[in-house]
Amino acid sequence: MKQSPRSLPPGSTLGMLGGDQLGRMFAIAARQCGYRIITFGDPSDSPAGQVSDMSIPANFSDEDALRKFAAQVDVVTYEQENIPVPTVELLLQHVPVFPGPELLRASQHRLLEKTSLRKIGIPTANFAAVHSAEELKAAVANFGGDAILKTVTLGYDGKGQARVRSTDDLEAVWKKFAVEEAIVEQIVDFSFELSIVASRFGDGTCAFYPPVRNDHVNHILDVSVSPADSISPQLTADAIQIARAILEHFDVIGVLCVELFATTDGKLVVNEIAPRPHNSGHLTIDACRSSQFEQQFRAVSGLASGNVEMRSPAAMANLLGDHLFDATPECWSAVFAMPNVHVHMYGKAEARTGRKMGHLTATAATAMAAEDLVVAARRKLRG
Ligand code: AMP
Repeated sequence: MKQSPRSLPPGSTLGMLGGDQLGRMFAIAARQCGYRIITFGDPSDSPAGQVSDMSIPANFSDEDALRKFAAQVDVVTYEQENIPVPTVELLLQHVPVFPGPELLRASQHRLLEKTSLRKIGIPTANFAAVHSAEELKAAVANFGGDAILKTVTLGYDGKGQARVRSTDDLEAVWKKFAVEEAIVEQIVDFSFELSIVASRFGDGTCAFYPPVRNDHVNHILDVSVSPADSISPQLTADAIQIARAILEHFDVIGVLCVELFATTDGKLVVNEIAPRPHNSGHLTIDACRSSQFEQQFRAVSGLASGNVEMRSPAAMANLLGDHLFDATPECWSAVFAMPNVHVHMYGKAEARTGRKMGHLTATAATAMAAEDLVVAARRKLRG
């Protein structure tokens, strides 16, 4: 059944599946406007739990807990794509859930995701499903002897993937992957990576932030910049067209992010879809009139879009545990003393290598100046 959001006034209660940083930033945006938040799935000291009215630390398969949660909230949304689809389907019997299960299902499964995108004419890397070492060898050979093997589910930040060549011991690679099904992708010859955060509302209106250029280190997003010189008006128009087609195909109410490659011959190829706000959209908090999190709570609450216009060029640098191991109180003071540098920390107790602890955003007259500023600010935390 097609769902359409009810217009919810301040004082309404929004349910959030997942308690990590994306839920935290959603809760902060929604609470500022007077909404109540109940998070499900993590304890009250989780990043989102710390800033919510209530947390239900139950398992996503706990049907009784899900029914009780549904009875206490006016609408439900989610902050990560690994929420089991049956969880959403059960909740849907009691309360609206946005975006619905179709986008969630596709974004959880790389084969289904790429097949759905191809069906609506959206370019992706060439890919093949593989179920054995023999199929893996054939697929790698077919893609010129050099490809990327990925798990179909639960892969993110480069986890669950490996570069594979025909000259490798592919029997051993397949054994080590230890899965029944995987995807092999042809290498995309790209000059840079970008993403676009888009939102769609109950009346079908769509809103798009300018696409953001993303640099990764060890497969984890490191720095995002917007507006990036390298993203031409044509690439921007193409990215918007792709995001709109995905929003409409999946009848999305909410926010999604499309991660893209800009190929060396000036085209866009979709890498993956996140059915929620995204790390590359965090700069919208300080640089845009309505942030990606405000857009999310507006969309699921049946309200109109906010103004997604940029107030200023901006750049965001992630703060991983690695960046913070040597940060003294003096280092933090130095960062807080920098005008136009904005600190966002997620309230995680323990800094670990590769763990996203927070981010910095800098705003400046140009995107290049913002990038220099945010990188200099992060360097100050190194001690
Ligand atoms: P993913 O986990 O699929 O987002 O991939 C992590 C990173 O691996 C991407 O951000 C790219 O830098 C790289 N990558 C993934 N798939 C491909 C591909 N088909 N061709 C080239 N690079 C890729």
